[in-house]
Amino acid sequence: MKTLYRTDYVGDITPDMDGQTVVVSGWVHEIRNIGKIVFILLRDRTGIIQIIGKEGVVNDDIIKSMSMPKESVIMVRGVIKKNQESKSGFEIIPLEITNLNPLELMMPFEVTGKVPADIDVRLDNRHIDLRRLETTSIFKIQSTILNSFRNTMLKEKFTEIRTPSLVEAATEGGSDLFEVEYFEKKAFLAQSPQLYKQLSIIGGMDRVFMIVPVFRAEKHNTIYHLNEITQMDAEIGFADHNDAIRMLKNTVKRIFSDVATNNNADLKRLNSRLKEEKIKEITYKKALSILNSEGHEIEFGQDFSREHEETLCSVVSNVLIVKEFPSSVRAFYSMPNEKDKQVCNSFDMLYNGLEISSGAQRIHIPSMLIQSIKEHGLNPENFDFYVNAFKQGSPPHAGWSLGLERLTMKIANVHNIRECSLFPRDRVRLKP
Ligand code: ATP
Ligand code: MG
Repeated sequence: MKTLYRTDYVGDITPDMDGQTVVVSGWVHEIRNIGKIVFILLRDRTGIIQIIGKEGVVNDDIIKSMSMPKESVIMVRGVIKKNQESKSGFEIIPLEITNLNPLELMMPFEVTGKVPADIDVRLDNRHIDLRRLETTSIFKIQSTILNSFRNTMLKEKFTEIRTPSLVEAATEGGSDLFEVEYFEKKAFLAQSPQLYKQLSIIGGMDRVFMIVPVFRAEKHNTIYHLNEITQMDAEIGFADHNDAIRMLKNTVKRIFSDVATNNNADLKRLNSRLKEEKIKEITYKKALSILNSEGHEIEFGQDFSREHEETLCSVVSNVLIVKEFPSSVRAFYSMPNEKDKQVCNSFDMLYNGLEISSGAQRIHIPSMLIQSIKEHGLNPENFDFYVNAFKQGSPPHAGWSLGLERLTMKIANVHNIRECSLFPRDRVRLKP
């Protein structure tokens, strides 16, 4: 779309537009003055183009206007000129250069990446960090993931719902909750949409999905954890965990394929070798025997550590479903397995050594649910609205939750999860 400030994006200009006058706008990526010639590399979201001011070719006033600090925001009206020697095969001869908003503050780090910047400095100045094409690529990939998830769900006849972020009781149990004042009461920020998506199923919606922020007051400080994340959740009525696993596998495969199709340049820029993946499936018990034979010492009833997840992915498959975990390590709403009461119908998806999704068939029988809530050290009275709903015609159902930032991190080949949240919240970061 043409605007007052732009006729074309840099990336849309081609050598066969030779001789045309265009208006481009963006930031000064580089500027060099070598006596009789001034070069500006102008960057917009699509790429970089060279503006050349040569004495004798361009009038002196224009050449004079070509002196501003890097990262100034400018508008250039100029003529496209073919040039075999320039990288793109053409350059722009300027007719008019406007500094749209002269800089008043120094840049906190070098956007071109010539001098590597510390991640904290970058995150403190995210608006500048986003000018790095690598950073933008992460969020272009993330946008495809979100679209792909939504499109797959809609195609499978799921309905998108919104669930509250302010809740009265813990949804997963435990203490990892942020408390907030809610008028005369105490409330919490939701750590998952779990109970609400189940209530929608009991309400007969049958297939629901949601993309929601969730809040985890976990005190750890790792490269895999944030305190505010985005979950992509799905819940399916009249289904068990194997049905949910099938849906999860399809969804993730679609995401891989959509990112591969739409974000080729972004993947390249980030050195990501995203490929089509076979998704294998093993039980928790099988995983234990693999881990023990690989030299880990792990007993039934222990949850996996990151090292365990890494071993499983490298030994079994890069994308992997582990199912039927011991009930003791899963949330209270996980349905015990009919054949083996020690385990429940739960599962995790691991990708490249990291858990990206958890899911389960849920307990839909009220008496079982009350017993499980107690066994998990929680008070059933705090869940009365939830438990009572199961007494009013709740079908069997199952679902899962896929962590957006973790999936982005693994697809984009990024080391630290903070890079995959636009404005991350961690133990110490609450700003910007
Ligand atoms: P982990 O054990 O790896 O900390 P979890 O089992 O506590 O994760 P779940 O409650 O299963 O997490 O949440 C569903 C999904 O949301 C996870 O599989 C993961 O992708 C993502 N997720 C959960 N907690 C976090 C977090 N603190 N930071 C980033 N992503 C998270
Ligand atoms: Mg989990």
